[in-house]
Formats: sequence, structure tokens, C-alpha cells
Amino acid sequence: MKYTSLKGIQDILPPDIYIWQTIELKARELFGVYGFKEIRLPIIEYSDIFIRSIGETTDIVEKEMYAFADKSGRSITMRPEGTAPAVRCYVEHHLYNLPPPQKFFYSGPMFRYERPQRGRFRQFYQIGVEAFGISQPSIDAEIIVMLNNFLERIGLKGLNFELNCIGCEKCRPDYRDALMNFFKHKLLYFCPDCQRRYVSNPLRILDCKVEKCIELRRGSPVVTGYLCNECRSHFNELISILKALKIPYILTPDLVRGLDYYTKTAFEVTSEYLGAQKAVAAGGRYDRLVEDFGGPPTHAIGFAVGMERVVTLLKEVQSRKYPSPTLFIATIGREAELEGLRIAEDIRARGFWVEPNYGGVSLRSQLRKADRIGAEFAFIIGSDELRSGKIKWKELKNGKQGEVEIDNATKVLSNNIESPDP
Ligand code: ATP
Ligand code: MG
Repeated sequence: MKYTSLKGIQDILPPDIYIWQTIELKARELFGVYGFKEIRLPIIEYSDIFIRSIGETTDIVEKEMYAFADKSGRSITMRPEGTAPAVRCYVEHHLYNLPPPQKFFYSGPMFRYERPQRGRFRQFYQIGVEAFGISQPSIDAEIIVMLNNFLERIGLKGLNFELNCIGCEKCRPDYRDALMNFFKHKLLYFCPDCQRRYVSNPLRILDCKVEKCIELRRGSPVVTGYLCNECRSHFNELISILKALKIPYILTPDLVRGLDYYTKTAFEVTSEYLGAQKAVAAGGRYDRLVEDFGGPPTHAIGFAVGMERVVTLLKEVQSRKYPSPTLFIATIGREAELEGLRIAEDIRARGFWVEPNYGGVSLRSQLRKADRIGAEFAFIIGSDELRSGKIKWKELKNGKQGEVEIDNATKVLSNNIESPDP
């Protein structure tokens, strides 16, 4: 019997994993200096948490949730995103009692039953941040700047930062009416999904990726024409901060998000190189969600980065090479093998990656192996070396070689390369 992983669910292996680890490390470092602390959220939650926040008439809730009944019959969902669980956590632990802002980041797998294709998986990973408790646009700007820095620091260039303001519960109804008016006469030509959306959630039509619908919605009213004073001045202030900080952005008035909880600021970072699934990161404000979850009125904003898409882009520009061992220890005979293991322990304790000989093969094939695994150095220990207390060393890329006393063996490595753990 041969098993495979589920459709749309993939293993992540070396050398790719090295890119993943580098991204995660840089996120941790950078988000830390902006005051974002890590939280680890559960992978499963009560389904209601997602239904109520993301919205019953969104694609995620209507067709993409991995929901099941647990043994007691309660409906459980494998998280499709991280914001709703973060808000649940914030309210459950009364984190609103701590001085604002409370800033968090998380990373881990999300699950959506989508049609698998390039850039779209059923299990995919996000790194996300959420900042609670600040209404001023300066925090919108801060997380946008941070996201920009992050993407730049991991080596991504040429991304588009698309920005919009999608209004609040005061001004959105007017916009919704205007949209419905515009679509009313051409409704029959839209895809069946959009016809359904017209009734349940007309803003969603703006997010439809069907070519015909994109064409049909050309010239539709834009949300920025319907903003209330508060939303408008928030947006203008955000833009003026971004200008002052010289952060590039593209005003995108038809940008809406796939989740209902967003208010005011919404943004998406896209890349032309990704084809149809072009968003690498997305986020926005959700000023009502904490209250909806039973907390006090609390402003909040966040974003999530789609790891697979970032990795795809990075693989275009970076080598996928996993780091290689610093040292291979070739040994001849049992006594030398034991000495080799002892030296390996000693050198590993100093932070170098050492591969030993696991026994039984000729010196020639050991050295061939050292080359194949890309080791920088080889040590050679045989009975002569044991007797003299000196081992032979060889720098594999240039053939340089010499002898060194066993007790000084690490000096060979550290004279040439810096120890990763000084
Ligand atoms: P899309 O429009 O591409 O479906 P979305 O609006 O559903 O994205 P969000 O819920 O905002 O996406 O998630 C944030 C980011 O997570 C996206 O920009 C994308 O990079 C990534 N993402 C979302 N769904 C998937 C998926 N099924 N597979 C891989 N990455 C995904
Ligand atoms: Mg989606």
C-alpha cells in the first residue's frame, strides 16, 4: 500500500525549508523591534468563531471551512485564518486590561478547502500580526511600514502595495446601495456566485476573479466616493504619514477583502510574477470585531503574509542551497572511528556542523562522500595519526592540506571561517 498526502496539502522539505526558516527568523527579529510579541494559537476552534467574524456569506465560510463535529457533537473548524482566533484569545484573556497597544504575531498552518492550484493550497502557512487598542492611523502606517520592511529584508522587490479604505458600518450601507444600483441591470450576465453575492453580500462581487465579472464591473462606483468624514480623514492622515515616510503605495479603490470584518484601511501586497494568485500579504482594520466577540470597543488592525507565495517568489531570486557541513571526519579502523566521534562532539559543541564516518567504507569513498555533501573540510584519522597525535586536514574546495595536533583541531576550522557561535 502506497500512501500520499491529501490533495492540496504538501510536505515542506530541505532545501526549501531553509528559506522558510530564514523568513520566520527575520519576521521574529523585525516584528520584535516593533514591539510585537509571539502568541501561539490553537489550530482548531469552535466553528462559530469563524462564522460570526469572517461572515456567513463569504467564500471561506460558505465553501472552504474544514469543519467537523467532535465526539460530543460540537462543530469544530480547523482555522482558515488567524485573526478571529487572535481576537478570541484577546477577549478570553482580558488582554484589553493591559495598556494599549497590545501587539502580537503568530505563525502556522491555515486550512481552506479550496481548489488546489499554483499558489493555492488546502493547508498553507501564514505569518500574521495583530495590534489592538489604537484608533489613530499612525498604527496603520506602522504596520504597513513594518510589512514593507519585512518583505524587503527577506529579499523581495518589485511588489505593489495596494491600499484602500473600505468604510465603516456608518458609510458602507450607502456604498452598498450604490453598487447594487450599478449591478442591477446587468446581473444576469454575472457568474452564478456573483448573482448570489448580489443578494447576500454585494461588495464581494468586487473580489470575484472570473474574467467576465471583472469586465462587467468596470466603471462601478468606488467606495472612496462614499466615505463618512471620520473614514475619510483617517484615510487621508494615513496617506500623509506614508508619504512622509516615503513608503510607496497604489491607491486601489476597488480593493475589498475576502473577509467581512474589515473596516476602514484595507491593503494587499501583490506581485505580477505570481499569476492569478498574486497576493503575498493582506490586511486591514477590524474595529468592531473585539466588541462582537464580547470585549470592550477596541480598535484593531493586522495583516497576514502567505508563506508559500513568498517562498515561490524568493526561489526565483535566491539559490535554494541548504547550508552544508563544515567538516567531514574520515576514519580508518575502529580506534580511529572512536577518536573521530570524540572530535566530532568537541567540534559540534563549538557550533560547527560535523558529519562523521559511520564506519565500514574505504578512505576513498569517504572522501568522495565529503565532496558530495559539500563539506568545507575533511579530517583524516588513521593509525598513523593516532600514533603521532596529529590528524591530516584538507580544505576541499582548494585542496589545501596539512597536519594539526588533535587537541588543536578546531583551530583549522576557525582560522578559516568564523564560528557561528563566538
Ligand atoms: P486570495 O484572494 O488569494 O484568495 P485571500 O483574500 O483569501 O487571498 P487572506 O485570507 O487575506 O487571503 O490571506 C492572506 C494571505 O494568505 C493571502 O494574501 C495569500 O498570500 C495567503 N493565502 C490565502 N489563501 C491561501 C491558499 N489557499 N493557499 C496559499 N496561500 C493562501
Ligand atoms: Mg481566498
